[in-house]
Amino acid sequence: MNKLLIATTNLHKLKEIRAILADLNLEILSLADLKQAVPDVVENGETFKENALKKASEIATHTGMLTLADDSGLSVDILGGIPGVYSARFAGDSKDDAENRHKLLDMLADYSQRDQRTARFKCAMALCSPSKVVGIVEGECEGYIIDEEIGDNGFGYDSIFFYPDFGKTFAQASSEEKNKVSHRLRALELIKPVLKDFVNK
Ligand code: IMP
Repeated sequence: MNKLLIATTNLHKLKEIRAILADLNLEILSLADLKQAVPDVVENGETFKENALKKASEIATHTGMLTLADDSGLSVDILGGIPGVYSARFAGDSKDDAENRHKLLDMLADYSQRDQRTARFKCAMALCSPSKVVGIVEGECEGYIIDEEIGDNGFGYDSIFFYPDFGKTFAQASSEEKNKVSHRLRALELIKPVLKDFVNK
């Protein structure tokens, strides 16, 4: 059976990825399943795709395994895509979700119209073998940033991200609802046929 390494230790991400790739007949491992330590990849790219690619290629080269890596975050249109690749540490290295949300709300304070506050969660996924880049994709999910926090579920920017199709924020949605439309799901759906082709060759 072919093996696929997912470059994460996040159990929620791993569960979601395993479920979507279940029919591909792959043995799916995470970094936590490896006996060897992997290098800490510095995510210093300017785009999600650059970071995902860097992570997948460095880990594939180091482990000798087919590797899938992702990088994700929020991109606010009127701010030129900010916080983008800085989403996790937008308000500083403490990576505090609440501080990140407050900083963003402050930056959007002068924009009161809904169409000035459009935003998208983006997720890039890169698939690398030890010798080559197999594929890179990006999935996104569009909504807008409201001017207060609503909802207790989720993490990161979920409580200020209003998703029109749901008529509520991502933090008001259940994880099952969110996982059906998320940027991560869309990226996974795009990488799945690429992965299938590669392992069936
Ligand atoms: P990572 O790619 O999982 O490291 O995500 C980077 C950062 O982007 C997180 O710390 C969050 O601030 C933000 N982010 C990514 N995906 C989501 C999401 O689904 N909801 C809310 N925030 C997210």
